[in-house]
Amino acid sequence: MITPSALKELVDFDGQGHSVLSVYLNTDLTQHSKEERRLALKQMLEPLREGGADVTRVTKFFDQKYDWQSKGVAVFTCASLKFWRELRLAVPVLDYASVDDKPNVRLLTDLLDEYERYAVALVDRDHARFFVMQLGEIEEFAYELPATPGRHKQGGWSAARYQRHIETLALQNLKQAAQLTNDFFKSQNCSRLLLAGTGDTLAQFRGLLPKPLRESIAGEFPLDIETPASRVLSKAREIQERVERAHELALVEQVNTAARKKRPTATLGLADTLNALMERAVYTLVVASDWRTKGFACDHCGYLSAQRLATCPLCSHSMRSVDRIVDLAVRRAIELGSRVELVHASAANKLKEWGGIGALLRY
Ligand SMILES: [Zn+2]
Repeated sequence: MITPSALKELVDFDGQGHSVLSVYLNTDLTQHSKEERRLALKQMLEPLREGGADVTRVTKFFDQKYDWQSKGVAVFTCASLKFWRELRLAVPVLDYASVDDKPNVRLLTDLLDEYERYAVALVDRDHARFFVMQLGEIEEFAYELPATPGRHKQGGWSAARYQRHIETLALQNLKQAAQLTNDFFKSQNCSRLLLAGTGDTLAQFRGLLPKPLRESIAGEFPLDIETPASRVLSKAREIQERVERAHELALVEQVNTAARKKRPTATLGLADTLNALMERAVYTLVVASDWRTKGFACDHCGYLSAQRLATCPLCSHSMRSVDRIVDLAVRRAIELGSRVELVHASAANKLKEWGGIGALLRY
């Protein structure tokens, strides 16, 4: 998990005049082959030869040390100051590399923004367990429910009275668990809550949560209190996926609506979107994750175009045809401080019907 202290260390690191190379690589082998990823890395590092020793360090890391087990990797290196940090991420990242005077954490903070922090409360009549899920990873936090006295049957009690006694204790426990959940959710800065547990208990537990917290519930699922954290994670991720897909679909619809207004505040299609990008007007670039097309680029000033132009309209150098114009557009958007959202599945299909790429504009 990316801890706040690890992030702060990166933000605070000062290259003291030495260059710092930051590299993000999507290493999701469920979507790409290792060879393709190695090639992407090579192409990304090619223009950054000025990074010298750092480029060598990163190349070596991916060639010799990295085990290709995570879906994304972020590396920050400053060989001159013997600085090296690698982060293995359980979620894919956009490919990006840059040389700056400090670590470029932009994509990392974007990821933290995009993947909300989920709290998971797993309860039964006697216990509660709490987890935080972020960026595809889960961490359990140990919380003890205060011991409830009087579990034992007192002499002379009828079975019915004992049963009522047990019910009262269970309710007390659930009330305490609800209070703890509320405290946990707030102290962990979570934005969504998932509830897990067994049938009746879950419904009762939900009813005991404060109203504002109930509104943060993103989903519920049946689960035994003893379930290992890895299984809690996979159930929680299923729900998170659904939330994300819904968000992506809404975003694509938003772009479409805004692009068709009389005074459009969004673009659809490569030509208009690249124009907006070149004018630095893109707030959020939205791209169908599996969409590729050809385009034209000026190597001299970075101008990108959907149309074949002999010379660059900005600097008059010659333009060349490129296979991966979308990757160049994504890279440019990141450089210009725009947000980039890759959309998947049905949102991607919808966007492809409308041109594969679009953008919400700044103004
Ligand atoms: Zn140019």
